[in-house]
Amino acid sequence: MPIPIRIASLSKGTLEFDEPLLAETFIDRLGEELKPVEDEFRVGGVATVLGNVIEVRGQIKGTLNFTCSRCGEPLRMPIDTSFEHRFVAQGELRGGVSSDSQLDGTHDIDLSEYDGVEVDVAPVALDSMIVNLPVAPSCPQSREGPCEQWSAEQLTAGSVSAVDANDSPLAAALRKIKL
Ligand SMILES: [Zn+2]
Repeated sequence: MPIPIRIASLSKGTLEFDEPLLAETFIDRLGEELKPVEDEFRVGGVATVLGNVIEVRGQIKGTLNFTCSRCGEPLRMPIDTSFEHRFVAQGELRGGVSSDSQLDGTHDIDLSEYDGVEVDVAPVALDSMIVNLPVAPSCPQSREGPCEQWSAEQLTAGSVSAVDANDSPLAAALRKIKL
C-alpha cells in the first residue's frame, strides 16, 4: 500500500502529509509475536525539495499487541518511530552520491532513487519501524524487575529463536578442525 507524494505537489518547497497505512499490508512482516491493534497506522511528516533531492522526515505511529517473551503476559507496545530519507533523481546514486559515502557514521540518512514523478513514503516508514522493533519484546524494566513471572529463559513458543552461531553443532565441529 503506497503512500505516494507527487513531486508536482511540492511546488511550494514543502508538503506536510498524514496518511493511513493499512495494517493488513504489513502484518506479514511483523513476525508471529507482534500484531497490530488498530486496522491502520498513521504515517505523517514533511517532504522538502532540496534541489533535485526530495527529503522526507516523519513518524509512523500505531500500537502492537505482543506477548512478553519472558512471562507470556499479553501486552501492548506503542509505536512512534521517526524516519528520515532522501530520494535522489534516477541515475544519481551511481554518480557522486554513493551509499558508501554514507558509511562514515556521521550522517546516516537512507538514500534511494525516485522516478521524477512521485516518491513512496510507505516502504521507508515501514522499514524504519521494523528495523527498530525489539527481537524478543518483554515487559518494561522496572526497579522490581521486568515482570513478576520473569524467567531467565525466554519463552520460545511460536517463535524461532536465534541460534547462537558459536553454540551450533557446526561451529563446534569447525573448532575441532585444525587450519
Ligand atoms: Zn513479562
